[in-house]
Amino acid sequence: RHAKAVDAASQKDLRSPICAILGHVDTGKTKLLDNMRKTNVQEGEAGGITQQIGATYFPIDMIEKKCETMRAYTDPQFNVPGLLIIDTPGHESFTNLRTRGSSLCNIAILVVDMHHGLEQQTLESIRLLKDGKTPFVVALNKVDRIFGWEPVPNSNIRDALAKQSQSVQAQFNSRLEATKLLFAEQGFNSEVYYKNKNMSKVVSIVPTSAVTGEGVPDLLYLLLELTQTRMSKQLMYLSELEATILEVKVVEGLGTTIDVVLSNGILHEGDRIVLCGSNGPIATTVRALLTPQPARELRIKSAYIRHKEVKAALGVKISAPDLEHAIAGSRLLVVGPDDDEEDLKDDVMDDMSGLLDSVDKSGEGVCVQASTLGSLEALLDFLKQMKIPVMSIGLGPVHKRDVMRCSTMLERKRELALMLCFDVKVDKDAELYANDNGIKIFQADIIYHLFDEFEKYQKEMLEERKKERIHDAVYPAVLQIVQVINKRNPMIIGVDVVEGSLRIGTPLAIVKKDPVTGQKLTYPLGRVQSMEVEHKSRDMVRKGQTNAGVAVRLDSQNMTNMPTFGRHIFETDPIYSLISRKSIDTLKDPAFREDVPREDWLLIKKLKPIFDIK
Ligand code: GDP
Repeated sequence: RHAKAVDAASQKDLRSPICAILGHVDTGKTKLLDNMRKTNVQEGEAGGITQQIGATYFPIDMIEKKCETMRAYTDPQFNVPGLLIIDTPGHESFTNLRTRGSSLCNIAILVVDMHHGLEQQTLESIRLLKDGKTPFVVALNKVDRIFGWEPVPNSNIRDALAKQSQSVQAQFNSRLEATKLLFAEQGFNSEVYYKNKNMSKVVSIVPTSAVTGEGVPDLLYLLLELTQTRMSKQLMYLSELEATILEVKVVEGLGTTIDVVLSNGILHEGDRIVLCGSNGPIATTVRALLTPQPARELRIKSAYIRHKEVKAALGVKISAPDLEHAIAGSRLLVVGPDDDEEDLKDDVMDDMSGLLDSVDKSGEGVCVQASTLGSLEALLDFLKQMKIPVMSIGLGPVHKRDVMRCSTMLERKRELALMLCFDVKVDKDAELYANDNGIKIFQADIIYHLFDEFEKYQKEMLEERKKERIHDAVYPAVLQIVQVINKRNPMIIGVDVVEGSLRIGTPLAIVKKDPVTGQKLTYPLGRVQSMEVEHKSRDMVRKGQTNAGVAVRLDSQNMTNMPTFGRHIFETDPIYSLISRKSIDTLKDPAFREDVPREDWLLIKKLKPIFDIK
């Protein structure tokens, strides 16, 4: 009985869950939030919903009202004070932020346009959610766009669907099944939420319309249901404070401020705080805790309301001295009466040093610069998957010194002399220096755009290198002469490709022992200028591709000492592609590697002794 009482007490003391909303542009994230903020009752004000810093707070009585229509199916019981939805742009990167081992966001809404499937940025979001192990629900949005949809404004989705024609229902089902298939391809089982028997393993889909409001009650209900029943441990109030910096912003009259999500505990004016800075840890004192003035109070001069203390969960702006170098994405700690400030400084810098492990020990690689720890982490993960080494990482704006650091790669590995910059400003000096020295700077404020551009650039670089080095790329081949068509000027021979592949540009040679001295003699025959199989010209002929012979025309124009058939060389001599140490190294270059199958490497191994290559 006692245990139960304690349980009830602590249940009452749950804090509001924190939710992120993400998905591809134009799927309806903004519209969906707008719809959630709307109250059914026309009372002229937002029913206690407060716009906060980088977030919107939905108090529980307002959510209860919105979920009224769910009573036909369930008896919603809520025991959290409300729901905090983070809606800062670029917040995608916060879903993988972790505070003390648990994710900053308890849950996320992934918005998918049911008529567009999983778009690029949605896939990116899924990757972030997966990496951060953040639970999420799918809002399968724009149901009202199904042809023939009859709006049932603000209804729960089951009632709304029941009122649709058979054809609408059939379209809905086929869209739903298609979406489930797409999620399966990403490694997730999914199911429309009211048929989902295993919420912890199977992703729940909530069909919604952000315009007519169908399914929005379901979405709110499900978010609270999932967080308060499955994550009540994470939602316990702690005496210890948990806070994360969302953004570092200069505000007129306040100087540099930080926008913070307080996910647990209570923060007071005058608290001593410690956070991660780009020049080392920052310790300072809270001057003011601020939230925005409600819209209807706009005639009041100050844009902010000042608080003596604030309680989790909420978004708040902190004004304090010395915040210029604060790093978005880092944790914020409060120095308690028993804490040693120096210890907390070490703690807070650990977040940063963890990421330093991604820097390549060789000192070779690209430079990465991002606005927040979360986005930096996402970029580093991506580069790791692509097997691209990283030389240095940085947070905040790009200065000349960052580009200078990058320029050391110009001599070591030119193709890595580049900077990937996510959501940060590049100052003029830095840009000039980069331009003058041939350092490529990639800038984007959507992670996947950066990846795309970078991948495109890499391909271009490879193509360019391929062109530059094509002369040295000799693919291995062994040929047998079938017929000598023209002995010289130009030499034309009919051959079979016995091993490997023959390509335009490949230099050929016959290797023989001098009958007198026993010395090995290499007779170059020139490079393949053109090839024909059954009177059709070809760029490449691989062993086994044709039974007909290949007519090969050799470019031997500038060659002196052409060997003579019947004297130096004979029709029975095998012909080899003229490989060298350099040609082998060239094929190992990433620009060519993909074009060289395993059997070609084995053949190269066989040909090496013939040309005395070590
Ligand atoms: P965001 O980029 O994800 O924030 O997308 P928005 O909320 O700005 O929506 C993009 C466009 O889609 C806007 O023109 C919206 O009016 C429209 N839209 C969003 N949700 C819905 C929906 O549920 N139904 C319909 N018909 N249009 C929608």
